[in-house]
Amino acid sequence: MSYAETEVLIIGAGVLGAATARELSRYRVDVTLVEKNVDVGWGITKANVGVVNQGKDTLEFRPEYRRSHLLWRSLAMMEPLCAELDVPFRKVGGWEMCWDMKMKEKLDKLARRTESLGLGKDRFYWYPELKEMEPNVSPKILGGLHDPDIAVVNPVYLTQALVENACDNGVHLMLETEVLDMKAGHHWFEVATSRGDFRARYVVNAAGEWVDKIAAMVGADDFVLFPIKGYVGVLDRRCEGLVNGLVSVLPEEPGDMNIVVPTVEGNLLFGIQLQINRRGDHSTTEHMARKALENARRLVPDISRENVINAFCGFLMLRNYEIGWHECEVGMSGRVPRFINMTIGYPGVSASPGAAAEVVEVLRKDGLKLEPDPKFNPRRKGIPDFSRLSDKEKSELIRKDPRYGHVVCRCETVTEGEIVEAIRRGATTLDGVKHRVRAGMGRCQGGFCGPRVTRILARELGIPESEVTKKGGDSTHLSCRVKDILGKEEGDG
Ligand SMILES: Cc1cc2nc3c(=O)[nH]c(=O)nc-3n(C[C@H](O)[C@H](O)[C@H](O)COP(=O)(O)OP(=O)(O)OC[C@H]3O[C@@H](n4cnc5c(N)ncnc54)[C@H](O)[C@@H]3O)c2cc1C
Repeated sequence: MSYAETEVLIIGAGVLGAATARELSRYRVDVTLVEKNVDVGWGITKANVGVVNQGKDTLEFRPEYRRSHLLWRSLAMMEPLCAELDVPFRKVGGWEMCWDMKMKEKLDKLARRTESLGLGKDRFYWYPELKEMEPNVSPKILGGLHDPDIAVVNPVYLTQALVENACDNGVHLMLETEVLDMKAGHHWFEVATSRGDFRARYVVNAAGEWVDKIAAMVGADDFVLFPIKGYVGVLDRRCEGLVNGLVSVLPEEPGDMNIVVPTVEGNLLFGIQLQINRRGDHSTTEHMARKALENARRLVPDISRENVINAFCGFLMLRNYEIGWHECEVGMSGRVPRFINMTIGYPGVSASPGAAAEVVEVLRKDGLKLEPDPKFNPRRKGIPDFSRLSDKEKSELIRKDPRYGHVVCRCETVTEGEIVEAIRRGATTLDGVKHRVRAGMGRCQGGFCGPRVTRILARELGIPESEVTKKGGDSTHLSCRVKDILGKEEGDG
């Protein structure tokens, strides 16, 4: 059998696999990143609220937990990384609030622990003062602890940028390539994929929801993960400004988080309802939707059902549900040499730069030769966001490329120029365009722009419109043209 060979095979182009690929692209080493989906960042990374957690909730982030250290290591890395990759990063600040004095005591304890760990001094504000910063939270709130450092990113943009930059620096990306089986040999792993067989000296298993299944292929699954489904609701852009930063209250019962948070793009997310669930089932349930909205309205009463334009569920793969979200697997398997497991239930986005740096250190320690590549370019330029440009910048862009003067998605003001650029950078589907430039993300959810984006995709990819898919595979959405049917009927008649 003939094998394609690679030094390091990374399985999964979620935020963790992407960050690792980009970190390795600093060196002269042969790296292949395989992803079963048609695009990157469509696993758990897509079903996320995008908060850059500061690891200050020291009940969740105890010093004895490894994931705490990965997160704390990442804190200074995320903002410069986003600047290098031209990924929007917004420091919005965040609140942990309370309804009564009993909860306030918990917040006081939290604040003392945060300070004792040298993680900063968060200040408590009583409602009248808090109201000045967050005027729309319920007056029933007693007060809240404010963390000015909380930031938000778009985890899919971050993943796309990491992959783009990694590929510019020599990483091979293989999409629609599913790892089906693997054997561990003395010197190589033999990996069977849906696109042929590989031989890899090292494997980094960053397969998200399926990380333990991949590990089990070679017996490196000496950990148990519990899939916990999390529900998140999306609010219309007209709610922009209802909250300025992350607002949350201490959970009153397990699985009942209550947060409302702005995205970098301006609309709000709310949730997160958690429940232990069979993995692979990403459906939202009426119960989760009702409970999440009820909670959000308790916190910010002006949120209404009519403002909910979408919802999604993702999986937190947690080491131990009973004790919380405390551990992670990032490091060389204790059982299988040269096999690295990489999973962080929460907060994998926030901890991704530190986790990637850690994996590179583990590889180096194991003997992988990592010579810096003098040609490494850390910079990447993002797609211009037309809707956020000044009038002068808009005119300049339209002068250079008139397609920026043609608005295709009216809800989010996305132009043809942005859509064409998204396709040039790898979008091949409607969702690929949507997750790069937001066409179809707004109130009408693609009802207006969907057919227009389909036409542009078909034109740019040189395929018939009927072959354009929503998200790859058999997700085509046009079976034929209505005019063709009418024409036929007229002819027949
Ligand atoms: C509701 C919710 C909210 C969250 N909010 C936050 C937050 O605010 N901040 C934060 O930091 N974290 C948050 N998290 C956690 C964070 O989303 C995850 O820790 C992180 O996205 C995990 O990334 P990953 O790369 O490990 O997994 P994934 O993104 O799932 O990537 C794994 C990839 O592997 C691919 N794959 C799987 N099997 C195979 C195979 N056999 N062959 C090839 N490819 C394969 C998948 O298609 C996928 O693309 C949240 C999670 C949830 C569920």
